[in-house]
Amino acid sequence: MSATIIDGKAFAATVRVKVAEHVTRLKEVHKITPGLAVVLIGEDPASEVYVRNKGRQTKEVGMNSYEYKLAADVTRDEVFALIAKLNADPAVHGILCQFPVPDHLNEAEIVAQILPEKDVDGLHVVNAGLLASGQRAMVSCTPLGCLMLLRDQLGSLSGKSAVVVGRSNLVGKPLAALLLRDSCTVTIAHSRTKDIEEVCRNADILVAAVGRPEMITGDWIKPGAVVIDVGINRIPAPERGEGKVRLVGDVHFASAAEVASAITPVPGGVGPMTIACLLANTVTAACRANGLMEPDGLTA
Ligand code: NDP
Repeated sequence: MSATIIDGKAFAATVRVKVAEHVTRLKEVHKITPGLAVVLIGEDPASEVYVRNKGRQTKEVGMNSYEYKLAADVTRDEVFALIAKLNADPAVHGILCQFPVPDHLNEAEIVAQILPEKDVDGLHVVNAGLLASGQRAMVSCTPLGCLMLLRDQLGSLSGKSAVVVGRSNLVGKPLAALLLRDSCTVTIAHSRTKDIEEVCRNADILVAAVGRPEMITGDWIKPGAVVIDVGINRIPAPERGEGKVRLVGDVHFASAAEVASAITPVPGGVGPMTIACLLANTVTAACRANGLMEPDGLTA
């Protein structure tokens, strides 16, 4: 079998089109321009690239982008004061702080300052709790992107056996909660799981969110399964020149594609969906803040 390659880049473009349409309607009919505030602390080059991309895509869909760059030695109180200001600003519908932050700051403490309804990264414990109890939440962007790709690929997920490898608060746990909400039978596997290969072989839907390059090979996969590879790993690529790297996922793509019915590539699979879902969450937050109907197809 040769798997269908799930084109996350193309799907993310369709999500951005839907977001842009909603933004236009919000502006024209309701005179509301959704706004996303991104806080960057310190000078991590990778984070600067992410923040730049987020800002560019936010503007491209017609929303307002507010960027705040804070020095690496900013105090906890100064960060909290900025977040309090953004919480109170009606023009700001979504707030995210780019992680990682310098060591003297605590990520969980920062997230806890953000109003849950403006927490477009879906990391606040209130949003985690709402999701876990099956209520309307802000859902973290990467799991939301995975869910959209799976629904697009499979239609109904009801009754499918889903295995999520990885139990982080950012990806594994919220995705498992979303799949459960869509009536999958969900197993969460992690570093202590026994016979993990056998567990994975039972999955109609297999999600890898581990951070171990190409750990999951074709012989772990049930024939015909849909495989979502969240992993982003940089490995040495001497064939490209000295010191060069290439990106691979947590799944060994070539062997997995022989067995699966569909699979996301790395790069070009889940990655592009993450920013698209951040934009989707910001529109959703703007609608909720103004008591308007949520955009169809952009929420969980
Ligand atoms: P974390 O490091 O927070 O979590 C990794 C999880 O994998 C843990 O639950 C860990 O188990 C589990 N794990 C580690 N080793 C093994 C193993 N040998 N067998 C089984 N399970 C194992 O990572 P994240 O969830 O934040 O990210 C996962 C991957 O997804 C990374 O590669 C990251 O770069 C990528 N990512 C991609 C995004 C995107 O936009 N595409 C967004 C976010 C992340 P335990 O809990 O037992 O330690």
